[in-house]
Amino acid sequence: MSLKVNLRHLEPREICLKGELPVGELDFDLRDEMLQVREPMHYDVRVEKVSHGLLAQGRLVLSLDCRCVRCLKSFKKTIELANWTLHLPLEGEDKATVDNDCVDLTPYVREDMLLEFPQHPLCSPDCAGLKKNGRSQAQTGRSAWDELNKLKL
Ligand SMILES: [Zn+2]
Repeated sequence: MSLKVNLRHLEPREICLKGELPVGELDFDLRDEMLQVREPMHYDVRVEKVSHGLLAQGRLVLSLDCRCVRCLKSFKKTIELANWTLHLPLEGEDKATVDNDCVDLTPYVREDMLLEFPQHPLCSPDCAGLKKNGRSQAQTGRSAWDELNKLKL
């Protein structure tokens, strides 16, 4: 009987990555005053090698600090990608960049998360907006935009 090494036994078939991705790494470059990311993103992802590429599947959870565009109330919104799937080719024109045998999934996570961000955050779908408290905006000279300007301090 010959002495053979099965290469596939030398590397795990799949790895599980679980942890937190810091805000600084996510680097969403948000210019929107109504959306802020202050907490790390939680990930629980399984990555396996498939032919010519990598397949990542798992769960991504991120908490957003939002401000309602109608009433300016602050609220938190959780974005959960429960069945996040990413297929990354390691060959061909669209192949992922490999650096020191590592592939960085961060840019792909960032892109997929950004797609889920609300364009116009609302505290509730039927938010009535700012209450006028019996005084018209003309009398007080205050509008939603004045309130917003104060928040930019
Ligand atoms: Zn609201």
